[in-house]
Amino acid sequence: MTHGTIDLIDFERVDTLLEGFNKSTGFVTAILDLEGNILSKSGWRHICTHFHRTNLETAKKCKISDTVLAGKLATGESYHFYKCLNGLVDVAVPIIINGKHVANLFSGQFFFEKPDVALFQDQAIQYGFDLDEYLSALKDVPVVSREKVLDAMDFLLNMTQLISEMTFQKLEQIELNDALKKSEERFRSIFENSLAVMLLIEPNSRRIIDANHAAERFYGWSHAELVQLKIEDLNTLSEDAITRALKQATEQARINFRFKHRLANGSFRDVEIYSSKVMIDGKEYLHSIIHDITDQIKAQNEVEKKEKLLRLFVQHSPASIAMFDTDMKYILVSNQYLIDFGLTGIDIIGKSHYEIFPDLPSEWRERHIRCLAGSFEKTEAQSFTHLDGKTDWIQCEIHPWFEQNNIVAGILVFSEVVTQRREAENELIAAKEKAVESDRLKSAFLANISHEIRTPMNGILGFSELLKMPNLAGAQQQEYIEIIEKSGQRMLNVINEIIDISKIESGQMKTSLSEVNINEQITYIHSFFKPEADNKKLEFSFVLGLPSADAIVNTDKEKLYAILTNLVKNALKYTDKGSVKLGYQLKTINLSVFPDETKHVLEFFINDTGIGIPADRQQAIFDRFIQADIADKRAFQGAGLGLSISKAYVEMLGGIIRVESEEQIGSTFYFTLPYNRIPIPYNETVSTPLESDSNIVVKKQKILIVEDDEISYLLLSNILRAQKHTLIKASTGYEAIEICRTDSQIDLVLMDIQLPGINGYETTMQIRQFNPNIIIIAQTAYGLEGDREKAIQSGCNDYISKPIRIENLNKLIRKYLKS
Ligand code: ADP
Repeated sequence: MTHGTIDLIDFERVDTLLEGFNKSTGFVTAILDLEGNILSKSGWRHICTHFHRTNLETAKKCKISDTVLAGKLATGESYHFYKCLNGLVDVAVPIIINGKHVANLFSGQFFFEKPDVALFQDQAIQYGFDLDEYLSALKDVPVVSREKVLDAMDFLLNMTQLISEMTFQKLEQIELNDALKKSEERFRSIFENSLAVMLLIEPNSRRIIDANHAAERFYGWSHAELVQLKIEDLNTLSEDAITRALKQATEQARINFRFKHRLANGSFRDVEIYSSKVMIDGKEYLHSIIHDITDQIKAQNEVEKKEKLLRLFVQHSPASIAMFDTDMKYILVSNQYLIDFGLTGIDIIGKSHYEIFPDLPSEWRERHIRCLAGSFEKTEAQSFTHLDGKTDWIQCEIHPWFEQNNIVAGILVFSEVVTQRREAENELIAAKEKAVESDRLKSAFLANISHEIRTPMNGILGFSELLKMPNLAGAQQQEYIEIIEKSGQRMLNVINEIIDISKIESGQMKTSLSEVNINEQITYIHSFFKPEADNKKLEFSFVLGLPSADAIVNTDKEKLYAILTNLVKNALKYTDKGSVKLGYQLKTINLSVFPDETKHVLEFFINDTGIGIPADRQQAIFDRFIQADIADKRAFQGAGLGLSISKAYVEMLGGIIRVESEEQIGSTFYFTLPYNRIPIPYNETVSTPLESDSNIVVKKQKILIVEDDEISYLLLSNILRAQKHTLIKASTGYEAIEICRTDSQIDLVLMDIQLPGINGYETTMQIRQFNPNIIIIAQTAYGLEGDREKAIQSGCNDYISKPIRIENLNKLIRKYLKS
């Protein structure tokens, strides 16, 4: 290194300077290395160059002197004077470069005092020098004062300083260049051998200046091909976008980029690029390291897709789901959760559950803590208060959810609002209790019905038995027969009521509307029950609320009749003294929905001064089967269905029924019917009361009885024979058709409906095909809705239901066979 450093000294310039110094001052100079080799010299004395340094012996002395002097400097002196072994004075200054003593700058070859010539003569003789020449050379050696030498020393010290600095700079430059070269080599080696894909780009021309082997392998182009390409040949971005990215990279505003790069085979890869600036040969390039992140992006997309799917799945799940992190902050919720907890429209993601529900009871918080510690919990229905103060019943399942390393990352809450279910359960319990109650009532009802049927049956069978007794007095006979008749009637009522209520219950009961004159109905009912009221010595009156012309409503005549009959019958039944009054009046009512609008109704009333109904039973009497539950002996005489049938009928006709009653004072039943006045004057003579026709004379007729049941035939034949009619019997439909076809004298057919083979309707239809005029009266035992319509439709003139009452049958016959 020392030697190398000396080589760096710019001797050319140093020599010029020293020569100038020699010429201007007369001081000779030399630079010697530490071994005494002369590296530079100027203006040396003849005595030294021709004599001392040429003769072997004196030259040896010179060398020794130089070495001694150099040795002195090595001890750290800044300069040193020395009288050389050949007798001259030398001075030396060390040259120190970068802290190292590498050489010495010598000056000298002068005397401080006049030299001792004799000494030099001796030397000339001793070393064989030409004396004259030697002494002449001695004369050239100047004698210099110490002051002058010191001045020169200043210059020499500066000189060595300059040499030192110049050389040090050069050294530094060389070292710098070395380092640079090494760094470039290292870069090249890394660039070449790196497994990472690398490109060197010239930012202005956008050219690829260099590419490594990994780049060749990745892109599929050879090095030669790659260095022909520009960035845009690889990058799929627009030129503008590429320019922007290059600008960012060169300004180092951004060093990391994500692009899509094209490969030689035409495929594309997602790449992440790290770009840095490098200086090569003084020029700036962009060094890009390219990572293929296609698979990473694919995996990332896959994860994102899965995450999105999960999000969608949770969000749109019909279940109520919420996902929390370990701080109980919402990560994900389903829409149902938002709905269930009244959070729709509130951004809760990232917020704490406790921030959303600050008043959450501590038991919930404790539950969350347990689940965050890894346990699973399922709650019974718990009461939960919403933000708006509303409470719900909520059932929950809480699971912890885990990260890959099995560490709990939060909890998942599956909840269900079970308020409705709880209510339904409660309703179910209530319904069950009601069903049990209703079952109890039905059992009681059945017992009652059984009683209601057995009692009249008892009467019928018992008194029939008595009738068989011989020698029975005529009056007694009549009494028994009346009892049998009454018992039968009572039984028929029970059966009719059962049929009616079952029709109502099964929804088969239909209304059949027609114009009905209310006044006629009231008067008829009054006259019908008058004898019974008279029997009980009750005052029985009626009130008509409208003149006959206005007393017309569009309603179901039979049902209205049934309602009135039932209520009047009850009034008479439960009243022992006083009066029974029936009637109606026109009323105007306000509609609760549209208070400004009014509606006209007819309000019927049936008032009695009977036993009355306890207040707590006034609602119940309208319920089905309730009568059986009433511990009133008299009330027990009946199936307890009359009022429930009446209520159903009133409601079917668009009205309401109610009762006002006081025990031992009496009761008033009210019911309404909608009143839409029908303006067409009603011909009051249209309906003639049936009983008023009893004096019509009926001539003897030929009657065909179609009946397969022997007893029923016997009954009919006995009734009709009493009227002296001629009777013919047919047991089947076919027989009947045949008789009608062959016997044109038949005036009337009593047609049973339930027949073997073809039924009564079919038989009637066939008879009608050849005889449209013959009177056919249907008789059925069903008593069901639609019997009358069916009979009329099949061609019958009228209808009578079994059991056939003599009076009713006679009325019908009188109606059709007037003479
Ligand atoms: P029932 O066939 O027993 O008369 P209803 O349904 O017609 O059946 O009546 C139910 C019950 O209401 C009766 O058993 C009786 O206790 C009571 N009730 C009905 N009408 C009257 C009335 N006018 N006065 C007193 N109690 C009545």
